[in-house]
Amino acid sequence: METIKGAQLITQNEINMGLLRPGDHIFTRFIKRSKGFYSHHGIYVGHGMVIHFVPVWPLKDGTEFPNPGPCEKCQGFNGGHHIIGVYGKVVTSCVGCFGNQIYLYRYGVSWPEALLNPSTCCPYKSKPLDEAVKTANEKLNTGFGGYDPTTNNCEHFATFCRTGIKYSLLPIFEKFGDKVPELPVDELGKIAAGTNVSVAVM
Ligand SMILES: [Zn+2]
Repeated sequence: METIKGAQLITQNEINMGLLRPGDHIFTRFIKRSKGFYSHHGIYVGHGMVIHFVPVWPLKDGTEFPNPGPCEKCQGFNGGHHIIGVYGKVVTSCVGCFGNQIYLYRYGVSWPEALLNPSTCCPYKSKPLDEAVKTANEKLNTGFGGYDPTTNNCEHFATFCRTGIKYSLLPIFEKFGDKVPELPVDELGKIAAGTNVSVAVM
């Protein structure tokens, strides 16, 4: 199977879907002009469906993105509870709408390994997979606060479902650039959690 730095490709165009387990933290990668890759994260909850956290923004025609799409299986990014005025929404969609190439995110790696492989793995230990499914479904009803690409993003959502702690290296890279200083791991963890975000997610 193809591997990329720090992560394994597990499904492609709905091939090998049987390898997914409910509770798996999965991600897909997109190419962003001039900025290399960015990734989108979610929790696989079974029956071909994923729960994930997306930004919401108003469109010119008065509706908002995301709104129900044409997919027969999932009607696009749909089903989430949306609090008016909060620009973030927990949605459900089929794996196909989530992405064509699905990678498996890993837990319980060392901090040095995590720092070398951003957006593919996390230094925290995961809870049992069924608890991740339960938390993702709860957040589908209650939301996850306002989306912020750095401090409250889709990776924060998925890691929160799996560990109870928000984790993404983007706040660390935003703060320090590529030169991350040697800091105690609990200090790194606090920054990774995007603690300066004012929106409560509990
Ligand atoms: Zn779909």
